[in-house]
Amino acid sequence: MGDVRERDVVVVGAGMAGLCALVQLREAGLTAVALERGDGVGGTWFWNRYPGARCDVPSLEYSFGFSEELQQEWEWSEVFPGQVELERYLNHVADRFDIRRDIQLSTSVVSATFDEGAARWTVATENGDYWRARHLIMATGGLSEPLRPNFPGLEDFGGRVVRTSEWPREGIDVSGLRVGVIGTGSSGIQCVPELARDAGALTVFQRTATYTWPSYNGPLDPEVQRETKLTYSDLRKAQRELPGGTTSLTGAIIIQMAEDKAILTSTEGQRSEALEKLGWGASRVWTDTIRNRDANEMACDLYREMVKRTVDDPVTAEALSPKDFPIGCKRPVIDSGWFETFNQSHVSLVDLRSDPIIGFETEGIRTESGLVSLDVVVLATGFDAMTGALLRIDIRGRDGISLIDAWSNGPASYLGLQVAGFPNLYTVTGPGSPSVLANMVVGIEHHIEWIIQCITDLDSQGMQTIEPKQEAQDEWVKHVREVAEGTMFTDDSCNSWYLGVNVPGKERIFLPYAGGINNYIAKVDAITAAGYEGFTLT
Ligand code: FAD
Ligand code: NAP
Repeated sequence: MGDVRERDVVVVGAGMAGLCALVQLREAGLTAVALERGDGVGGTWFWNRYPGARCDVPSLEYSFGFSEELQQEWEWSEVFPGQVELERYLNHVADRFDIRRDIQLSTSVVSATFDEGAARWTVATENGDYWRARHLIMATGGLSEPLRPNFPGLEDFGGRVVRTSEWPREGIDVSGLRVGVIGTGSSGIQCVPELARDAGALTVFQRTATYTWPSYNGPLDPEVQRETKLTYSDLRKAQRELPGGTTSLTGAIIIQMAEDKAILTSTEGQRSEALEKLGWGASRVWTDTIRNRDANEMACDLYREMVKRTVDDPVTAEALSPKDFPIGCKRPVIDSGWFETFNQSHVSLVDLRSDPIIGFETEGIRTESGLVSLDVVVLATGFDAMTGALLRIDIRGRDGISLIDAWSNGPASYLGLQVAGFPNLYTVTGPGSPSVLANMVVGIEHHIEWIIQCITDLDSQGMQTIEPKQEAQDEWVKHVREVAEGTMFTDDSCNSWYLGVNVPGKERIFLPYAGGINNYIAKVDAITAAGYEGFTLT
């Protein structure tokens, strides 16, 4: 082993979680380094530069609340911030708090090993550097490990292949080119309308149709921004008291669920009225669609009616209409003109259910019905979510046990924060925490606060390590499973990345905590107040 550098804490990743951790670790008087494989900071907002990349949480709420000065001085321009603005914001955070000197870019962490005798983690990087620390914070992101489907003949393709999650900094000029997009999740749906603006011809390859709703994004009303800033701390408090971590106070057009309207007992007239008045919102306003599959199917009918009304070509409309799985099983997608894009004469859809891809060739993509000639192929095929980035690092805890082995039957953790057998290892927004089911910034800030408080408490009590008790972890895993049971998330027909089924060979297990971030925070607070109940401190 060459040079080994020592800090109190090593952080892996310099996205929102890594940056938030560095600022607050320094404020707590702890030394730290963040190791980041990208050559810039921002994580998600550094990597996903595809045209149309945008957040679907309002900017005033998808931002840090840990510094009153920061939230007062930053001015947002749109209701839903785009990638460029978010990347600028996160670079501002790095500069404003002078944390770049604690970040080592272009550095991939390959392993992390716990030395029981010394109670230290040794972290090795691809560059051959070693770091030692008492605490290891995995801020590696839940959606940072791209899925790389193996399309036959991909390497033979004569044109350019680009992933939405690895979009080049300099951009790609698709003017007049023949562009193909594979994947119709959030990323595909966001980039298609933008690519269609310039492309000579655009072909979308869709395996599964998607439930997506218009964002109604627009410039942020300066008055809303001014008023929010007057009582920002109240808003931050309110976020933590809501299941999704987002209020309805910051400029987004929200279609409210009716107080007591069940679709199962509604009349045809009421449903038609909802369609006329609310359009796409008509599929989202009923109270009984979350847990009742028949009710959900009735809402899906309203949704499909809207597709028919929006897409001119009936065959394309039919193919773009999601079927056989409920609204709410996957993460809702928010778009800007997705369906309308298919009314342009140079945009076409290949429905892979009826016309599957055979493989790539020099000229383009061959499906069963023929060759689609292409210059550029965009892969919007998603991520190995929530566990992918963690399991790509060889993490070894007590007795040399690897995280891969510890999670061979699926990811098990206590509160999504720590794993039994891996002392002083923290997984920010890890599996078993609300993470992707709520405004992620709220989850990130809560986890970072908890971790730093925990390290400070250990130090003040003269303790060296903290890790979950096996029984507490087992109970939490059971609770996470039970909370998701009976919801659309775990419906038999659901094939979402929340369940890991988009990754070949990954166990079908619901990964996040579906009990609401408000309830989760209350539980974590109670556990902490009870002296870290369920944890062993040594
Ligand atoms: P990331 O931003 O993913 O950062 C993790 C960092 O760790 C990355 O930079 C990565 O390079 C680095 N890393 C990983 N492994 C290693 C390693 N072995 N060595 C070194 N570095 C490593 N959430 C919302 O709440 N609302 C949204 O609207 C929303 N939109 C999204 C849009 C897109 C396109 C994507 C992909 C995600 C979106 N998310 C959204 C989720 C988003 O990931 C989180 O909101 C948040 O940005 C996560 O921050 P993070 O720091 O935890 O992880
Ligand atoms: P995704 O939701 O997993 O979508 C991937 C798409 O690729 C799906 O349509 C999938 O089809 C398709 N696909 C995968 N492998 C394929 C193959 N071999 N052949 C054909 N099609 C294939 O990924 P994503 O769109 O990147 O979004 C992931 C998550 O990131 C989102 O759910 C969200 O949390 C976040 N995100 C948010 C925003 C935002 O609006 N703020 C934007 C982008 C991303 P199947 O459905 O059939 O598997």
